[in-house]
Order: sequence, then C-alpha cells, then structure tokens
Amino acid sequence: MKKLELGEIVKGVEQTKLSYLYDSYSTSFEAKVLNAVHEQGKSWYVVLDQTLFHPKSGGQPTDVGELVIQGVKANVKKAMLVNGVVVHYVKLEKELKIEKGMSVRGTIDWGLRYKYMRRHTAAHLLDHCVNLVTHRINKTLGSWLGEPTYVEYQGIFEDVLLKQVEEKANAFISQGLEVKTEFLSKDALKEILDSPNAERLPEIQVYRIVQIDSFEKIPCGGTHVKNTKEIGALTLKKTEKVEGGFRIYFEV
Ligand SMILES: [Zn+2]
Repeated sequence: MKKLELGEIVKGVEQTKLSYLYDSYSTSFEAKVLNAVHEQGKSWYVVLDQTLFHPKSGGQPTDVGELVIQGVKANVKKAMLVNGVVVHYVKLEKELKIEKGMSVRGTIDWGLRYKYMRRHTAAHLLDHCVNLVTHRINKTLGSWLGEPTYVEYQGIFEDVLLKQVEEKANAFISQGLEVKTEFLSKDALKEILDSPNAERLPEIQVYRIVQIDSFEKIPCGGTHVKNTKEIGALTLKKTEKVEGGFRIYFEV
C-alpha cells in the first residue's frame, strides 16, 4: 500500500498515544482499535488509541511483536508513523474481521527493542564523545540503528581520533551514568537549540528531551536505557566519508 493510501487509513483518526515515550521498559499493553483496514488475505492495517510499538522513525527501526484480538493472534510485521498516527501492519494467524472498538492486547519483541534502546543510547553518547574529542559541535545528519549501525555527522573527521572517542565512550559507560527524560514546550526547547540534531526536529508542540548525566539535552522521540551501564561495551568499527560529512559505524 502506498503512502497516500496510508494517509486514508489515518484520516480523521485521533493521534496515537505513544506509550513508549513514557516508559521504554514496558513490553505489553491494552488498547482499543480506532480503525482497521483489510489489505489482503490475513493482512490488515490496524490503528490503536495507544501503542508501545515504536514505528520506524528517527533512525530507529520498527518494533515487531504481536497483537491479540478476540483471542486471535496477529503478528505485527511493522509499525509506521503517519501524521502522528501509528499504523500497525499485521498478519493474523486465523481469519478475523477486525472492527473499530475491539479490545487488543499488544506485546512487543523485547529482545529486539532492548537492542535498539542500547544502540540508541550509545548513539547519543557517541555524539557527545565525538564533540569532546574534536573540540567542536558536530551536527548529526542522520543515523541508523538497524544493521549496519551508524551515526552520520557534518564536516570531516580524522580517523586517528576514533580510538580516543571509543575510549571516552566506554569510560562513560562503565561509570553507570543516569539517562534522564523530560518534556519541554517549543519555547523552552529554543534555549537548548545547540543540540546536535537541532536542525532536524519535527514541528510539534511538546518535545521529549533526553539527557545523559549532565551532558547536552537532546530532543528525541526514541527509546533509551536508564543507565549507560546497560549499553555494554561499545566498539567503533570504522568511519566512512559521505556527502557533506562522515559516518561512524559502531556495535554494542
Ligand atoms: Zn534518542
């Protein structure tokens, strides 16, 4: 189904409460079906009033998992964010006509999600350490937390510094630094607009801010671990030149 048609599915539907923003460690939830559109066979597009499924966005891959509707299991293949609404693309194990108002129990694949949480937090720590070692703010151009995992920055980077960045990051990881979350209005956010991703922020009313220890505050809608210790060992694999910048590939 094309983007345009996904737009049809979410037309007039209330924006989804993104429950993972408030608790990244919850794995299952109850919700109500706000809209359901049959694709073909046992495949459906399902919109819920709230969800723990993080859609593919901000460089973080989609969560997968399952929904149980009327006792029937539906495998969630992917979650997509369309105009503030999360659309779950599911495949039922048995025939069922999914209807508005039905109750749903959802469970995410925690192993996969936790991996993304560790990688995502590592990416923020990497931003901080790249700035420390290069003595300048390196704006981020993008990132991918699937495979291969990388963060992309503006400007140039000397490979000889890679080992220093890795050592700094691993030192912060082993210190067990707290990773905090808060919510800020757009005006309050303006005061911290020197964050590495400041120029890539969406136009929304309330921003979620993530901060490792007393480092820079980062507006981010992704999922993170609570303590840097959970990241485990960070390995910087290599750098690569890209248009207007460079990538650092990493593993945790
Ligand atoms: Zn983040």
